[in-house]
Order: sequence, then structure tokens, then C-alpha cells
Amino acid sequence: MAEDTIRARWEAWEEQTLSPYATLSKNSKGRAREITPCEIRTCFMRDRDRILHCKAFRRLKHKTQVFLAPLGDHYRTRLTHTLEVSQIARTIARAMRLNEDLTEAIALGHDLGHTPFGHTGEGVLDRLVPGGFSHNAEGLRVVDKLENDGQGLNLTFEVRDGIVNHPKKCHPATMEGKVVSLSDRIAYVNHDIDDAVRAGVLKAEDVPESCRKRFGNTHSERINSMILDVLRASLDTPTVTFTEEAAKEFDLLRNFMYENVYFNPIAKREDEKARGVVEALYAYYLEHLELLPKEFLLHLEEDGAQRITADYIACMTDTYAIHEYQRLFVPAAWN
Ligand code: MG
Repeated sequence: MAEDTIRARWEAWEEQTLSPYATLSKNSKGRAREITPCEIRTCFMRDRDRILHCKAFRRLKHKTQVFLAPLGDHYRTRLTHTLEVSQIARTIARAMRLNEDLTEAIALGHDLGHTPFGHTGEGVLDRLVPGGFSHNAEGLRVVDKLENDGQGLNLTFEVRDGIVNHPKKCHPATMEGKVVSLSDRIAYVNHDIDDAVRAGVLKAEDVPESCRKRFGNTHSERINSMILDVLRASLDTPTVTFTEEAAKEFDLLRNFMYENVYFNPIAKREDEKARGVVEALYAYYLEHLELLPKEFLLHLEEDGAQRITADYIACMTDTYAIHEYQRLFVPAAWN
């Protein structure tokens, strides 16, 4: 007799409704450790919930997007960036009749491996750790090895693949992974324009004219026209991409942001200090492995001292890293 659970109904619904290019939850390649299926949720809904409830997700709140530990309440953090990626990705996935639950799970998990101080912290660890360091590979370590007291979240293959393959140069195995990868870029280029204007690093009129002509002048106009363009180029195809003309303008806009914001000396003025903090903490904890929490030490034998020290530093938020640096290296006032 066919199984009659709410989950089985969702699985049947996916099969009847979604695009032939969508990833069906009942066809998932599964988890490293098999578990009893949930009665209510598909495997991808369950992964989304596992990510949302994990500690690394809550730490995104205090991790830099572009502006280091911003005091202004309206600047993006990794958490709000992640939510914006998720919203854009779900809009595209739903319009293309892809698996929205898988899309959401990947989007919510895509930046879990980010270090304190954004790409500045990532660069320091990449230089110091043998074998290198990248936020996307670290994201996989977070969900596979570090979360859940060192047991990992035991996510499905498709969600893990989407997390590790979200940067531009990678090739995700699913359409939903491709949607998140492009949505990540749409989200950050747009919200970073908004934050850069807020910070006085950029004026709205500085955005190249051809980009404003194609995508519009406001945050909302730009996101809307970018999503519409992606759908025009991708609907009913096995790809997720801009039209050729929009891709050119998008690259121009992205390069403009690199030159004027991401490498802008005003936005980057604290970078040297941030690098110093990450370097000092890495060196200190490498010499004091016994101070690492047990979920990190569990992996000492398999992955080595340098990797687990990098894991510990990478998991810190901007605020925690600064607090730790002060506690360890700055003399406290006598009281
Ligand atoms: Mg991102």
C-alpha cells in the first residue's frame, strides 16, 4: 500500500507540479547517515529547518558583510544578506517551478562558513592554513563536522553541494544551486550599493549610466529588473542566467563596485587592524589547542591542529573576535 503521510503528499505534489529541471525531494541522493523520514516535511524542508535552528546561523547576525562591525542599525550583516539572497532565490525558483524548499535551504546555509571581518578574515586564514581556506569549503565543514556538538547536521547531498558550490567560479549540481549562486550576486551588488550610499562612500548618481538605464535607479527597480531578465533568459531551460546584454551590464556594475566600494580605502580603512586580530587569535589558539571547545577538538586527529584552529577562528563573529583579542592581548584596567 502507498504510504499516506503529509510528506508523501508533498512528494507527489512536487512530481505533478514542478518543472522537469527541478530537483524532486523523493529523488535526493540522501544523507551520509540514513534517518527515518519525517512524516510532515520533505528532506529539503527538513534541511532548511536544521540550518535555521543551528548556532552558526544565529552567528551570521554579528558577521561583516562589507562594512566591519557597523554601528548603524541599517547596514547589512551576513544574516540580513542571507535573508535577501533567500528571498530573491525563492522568487526565481518559484517562477521557474523549481524546488523552493531546496532553494531556501541552500540560500540560508550558503554563507555559514564566513569568517569574522568578511573576506578580509578569509584572506588571512587562506594565507596561514596549509591547504588554504575558503568560506564555501568551510561552510561544508560547519554543516558536516562542527554543528550539533561536532556531529554535523547530516544534510542531504543537494544542500551540501549548493553550499560548497555557491561562488561564481563553481558548478552546482542542481538548478536550485544555480539559482542561489546567481541570487547571491544579485543580492550583494544591490544591497552593497545601498549600504555604500548610506556610508557616504558612493552617490547614487555614481552608478554607471548604462547600468542605471538597463536596471533602474532604485534598489527595488534594480532587483525587479534583474529577476525579470533572469526569468526571460532561463524560463523553461536547464540554465539560470542573465540575457547576454544584461550580463554585460551586470559585470560592469560588479566591477564598478569592486573598484569603488570593495577596494575603497574608506570602506577598508580598518582592514589592516582586522587582519591583525585574526592573525593574533590564530597564532594564540594554535599554541593553546587545549582551550578549544570539544566539538573542534573531536576533529584534531583527522584534520590536524591548523585546520581545527582555523575552524574555531572562522566560527567567531566580528564582535566575539574583538572581545577575545581584548581579553587576551589588551591589559584590563585595575578595579
Ligand atoms: Mg553570500
